[in-house]
This record gives sequence, structure tokens and C-alpha cells, in this order.
Amino acid sequence: MKKLVAFFLIISILISASSCSASEPKRYQAEFLTLFDTVTRIVGYYESVPDTSYYKTKDGKESFSLLAQSVHDKLEEYHQLYDIYNDYDGINNIKTINDNAGIKPVKVDSRIIDLLEFSKEMYESSDGVFNIAMGAVLMLWHDARVAGVEDPGNASLPSMTDLEEAAKHCDIKNLIIDREASTVYLSDLKMSLDVGAVAKGYATEQVARELEVEGASSLLISVGGNVRAIGGKYSKSSSFDEPWNIGIQNPDKSSEKTDLFSVNILGMSVVTSGIYERYFTVNGKQYHHIIDTKTLMPSEYYASLTVICDDSGLADALTTALFNIPIEKAKEKAKSFDIEACWVLHDGTTVFTDGFEDLIKK
Ligand code: ADP
Ligand code: MG
Repeated sequence: MKKLVAFFLIISILISASSCSASEPKRYQAEFLTLFDTVTRIVGYYESVPDTSYYKTKDGKESFSLLAQSVHDKLEEYHQLYDIYNDYDGINNIKTINDNAGIKPVKVDSRIIDLLEFSKEMYESSDGVFNIAMGAVLMLWHDARVAGVEDPGNASLPSMTDLEEAAKHCDIKNLIIDREASTVYLSDLKMSLDVGAVAKGYATEQVARELEVEGASSLLISVGGNVRAIGGKYSKSSSFDEPWNIGIQNPDKSSEKTDLFSVNILGMSVVTSGIYERYFTVNGKQYHHIIDTKTLMPSEYYASLTVICDDSGLADALTTALFNIPIEKAKEKAKSFDIEACWVLHDGTTVFTDGFEDLIKK
């Protein structure tokens, strides 16, 4: 029943199509609003054909709808597994792990183990500036932000005393993963995991890989701006080898220029994090959602950061990690990961890795 409802929702409200001529593949787009607390958008090109191969019914719209439904269902599974706020019947998710901190190990799906092991590696390779075990600190910021957005007149910062107390319970060594037993245990009672910096991108990457194995060769998935391309898009001259154009948002929201520029990608991922995404205001100053592990305050180095690489999970984790590192060191780090990045400083200046500008649409 649930499946049917979701399918109906996509078909009836959210699919739109356009094309230049009747015989060419049409561009279809679907949107879902229920995953990862953000908007998911899927774009693909389909034509109506006489045969029925991969997801190709005779009707282009129907083919795209089936694919969109499949993307939705796959992402929804990850959404439920990686959720830190909600329980789901019959599922042990990250919230279950948090609820059992200091109590007992929790048996979980291997997709949770995969995410947590990857996140531990990212902690090591980012010298600790990316830390999913700092849920106790991030929760204080999250709660202050939610309250401050709801009631701006009474917005207030979490106290440094509370932040410092919470910071005593962020040691990633107390995240104990047993892959063989498929269990996760937080050995500190006051500790919790927050995978907000990586879950969306990691899930998007895994879903894209599943789709590729199933035979998808041209699709764009964007989960809250966390973009992952499969192959290229359709154009008359290139067939399905035309790069996708992804706009990079201008962090200065007062500017008329909504995008700074756009980049061209073929089968890669583009992820941006910015101080304009999730924030609240106290005494005229904005406080955003990427927290510096050293100061326990919102990171002050950049207005936004875009990472481009093959792997959307890595790109998502790095937008948070490289946000917390000063520019010269951040550029070195980017090189060590063999990724492209663009940092926008507070005065609007852009700093690029060596290969980034080649990807900008001329
Ligand atoms: P989004 O795309 O949803 O804005 P980001 O990828 O920019 O998310 O990551 C921001 C989120 O990551 C925060 O909301 C918080 O949950 C988490 N976070 C913030 N600072 C850190 C950090 N230093 N290490 C790990 N996670 C963090
Ligand atoms: Mg991120």
C-alpha cells in the first residue's frame, strides 16, 4: 500500500517533461519531499520506444516513473537506517544505537556498519575535524537553531559550559564497531552519533552504484543539492554523452546572481556546503550548522565550499571536513584526496584546486 501511495504521489504531482521534438528523448524530472529532511530531485531522458529493455516500457514517461520510484525506494531505505531522530518499526537505525549508548551493542544492517566505518576513516584522514561522534555538541546547536528559527525574538546560543561538558563525550574511540557480529556500541552513556555531514551523500552514492549495476546509464540524482550524475545527459549531437550542468549557488543571498557559475560533469558528484543553508540569528549575527571541533562554535573560515569527485559520500564528508581547515592546509588536504574543490571566502573571493576551473562552464 505504502509503495502504491508513493508511486501515485510521484506520478500525479511531481513528474514533469519537456523536449524539443516528438521523436527525441524527453527530459523528465521527479521530486520527493520526504527524504533526508530535504528535496530530492531526479532528472532523466526517456523516449517512447517499441521494445522494452532496462526500465523501458513502451512509454517514456512510464519508464521514467518506474526508475524514479526505484530511486525513491532505495533512498528511503537508507533514510530510515541513517535517521537519528525517528524510530521505524522493525528497524534498528542510528537512533537505536544512540538510545542504547552505555547500555548495549545494537545489531544493525551492514549498510550502517559501512557508513560508520567510512566515517571513522574520514575522522582519521581529516585529523579529527570531521567527527560523527560529536552528536552531544551538535545536538546543542541543533536544538538552539530549531528554537531560534521558530522564535527568533528569543533565539539564544548554547552556553559554552554546556558545549564544553558535551565535548567530553565525543571521543570516537568509544564508537565500537563489530563487523563480524554486525553490532555497534557506544561505550559512553552520554555520547551520540550525528551523521548529518555524510549520510545523504553516502546514501546517494550507494543508490547510484546500485542503479549503475542494474544498467542505468544516464541520470542525475540530487538529494538536497548533493548531486550525483550517472553518465551524461541527452543531446542531439552527443546522444547521452553531454555533460550535466550544475549551478553552484552564490553564498551571498542578497546578490541578484543566484549562481556563481555552473560546472560540467559526466558521471561525477558535486556537493556544496554553505553557511547560508541552515542557520539562526542571535543579536544580528548568523550562526550556521558546521561546527569547528576546536572552538565548538560555527566554523569561521568560509562562506561555502564545493567538492567535485567520483564518490558522493566522500564529497559530502569532505565539504564538512575541508570547511574546518584553513585554506592553505585545506588545499593540501584536497590534493591528498585527489578531488577538486572551490572555497568561497567571506569577501566573495574564490579559491580553486588546480583542476576545478577546467570544469566550469565557459
Ligand atoms: P547539509 O548538506 O544538510 O547542510 P552538511 O553536509 O553541510 O549538511 O553537514 C552539516 C551537518 O553535519 C550538520 O547539520 C551537523 O549535523 C553535522 N556536522 C557539523 N559539524 C560537523 C563536524 N565538524 N563533524 C561532523 N559532522 C558535523
Ligand atoms: Mg557534508
